[in-house]
Formats: sequence, structure tokens, C-alpha cells
Amino acid sequence: MEPETREELLSAAERYAETVPIAVDLDAVEWECSDRAVRRAGACLYDRRAARVTIRLTWDAYRSFGWDEFTGTIRHELVHAWEFQRFGESGHGPRFAEKARELDAPRHCRSFADARLRLVCSSCDWDARRFRASKAVKRPERRRCGNCGARYRVEHVESGRRWRTHAGYLVARRKLGNDW
Ligand SMILES: [Zn+2]
Ligand SMILES: [Zn+2]
Repeated sequence: MEPETREELLSAAERYAETVPIAVDLDAVEWECSDRAVRRAGACLYDRRAARVTIRLTWDAYRSFGWDEFTGTIRHELVHAWEFQRFGESGHGPRFAEKARELDAPRHCRSFADARLRLVCSSCDWDARRFRASKAVKRPERRRCGNCGARYRVEHVESGRRWRTHAGYLVARRKLGNDW
């Protein structure tokens, strides 16, 4: 079951963090959920004096990405937490990149604008972002809008190509080739 409230998201994130193979002292990490309309999906803050890390997750980003995609954001923020706890500083340099690669975490803090794919409802104003060819992207006919339950189309953001079925996805994928 995907988290449906902010509280559920925070406890799911905490539980998920325990399964990520990275040496972070999770007892010294606070989790919070932000409602502010920020573009970033998450942030990691460090209070040097108290040696406390706060991981702030953006509710709208979770709603837009879905849980599977959002775990990538959690892994990304955990790499920041690891750098803060171990080195007292954190960025997106080579050390970060290497650790992120180990965990299959995105190197850059994901923002809505970075998403490769958009799901757009055919009858309400719901839309969602995806970074990879997930099931919702490959087989849109099997899923429904997260808000009203109608069908949706998938758009490849950069090229504007659209599809509503698995067959349409295959055509788009073939036509786009390396531009995917
Ligand atoms: Zn980051
Ligand atoms: Zn809808």
C-alpha cells in the first residue's frame, strides 16, 4: 500500500531508510514533510552544533512521482545525510556521485522540471511526473488517473510524443531511439 497521508509517508520513509545499505545513523535523523510549493522533491539539512540531520520530503513531489520513484529521492537524501554525518559537509561532487551510484540514487535532487515523462488525465486537471519507463508509462491502459479514475495519456516531455496504450508506447520508444 502506498502512503496516503503525510504521516504515512514519513513513517514509510523511515522504515524504507532502514533497508537502504548505507552507514547512516538513523537515530540522529529527523524526518519532516514540507507543504511548501518548492520544486525540489526533498532536502537534507544539517545542524552542525547538535550534529542532527533533518530530511525534508516534499508532499506534492511524492503525490506526483508515486512511491516507487520517490524512494530514489529518499536514497538521494540519505547520501546527503551520510556525507553530513561522516564529513560534516555535503554537496553533489564526485564522492556524492559515487555513493549515489552504489545506491542507484539520482545524482541530482529531482525537481518536477527534470521528469522525462508526464501522465495527463483525459478528464480532470491531474498530472503526474515520471523519470523512467515504469508500468504506468509502458501500459497506461491498465492504470487510471490518480484523482478521478479516468484514463490518461503519457507524454514524452522533450519531444511531445504521446500515447495511451502499450502499443503506442512501443512505437514512441522506437521512433525516439536515442532521444528517449
Ligand atoms: Zn541533493
Ligand atoms: Zn482525472
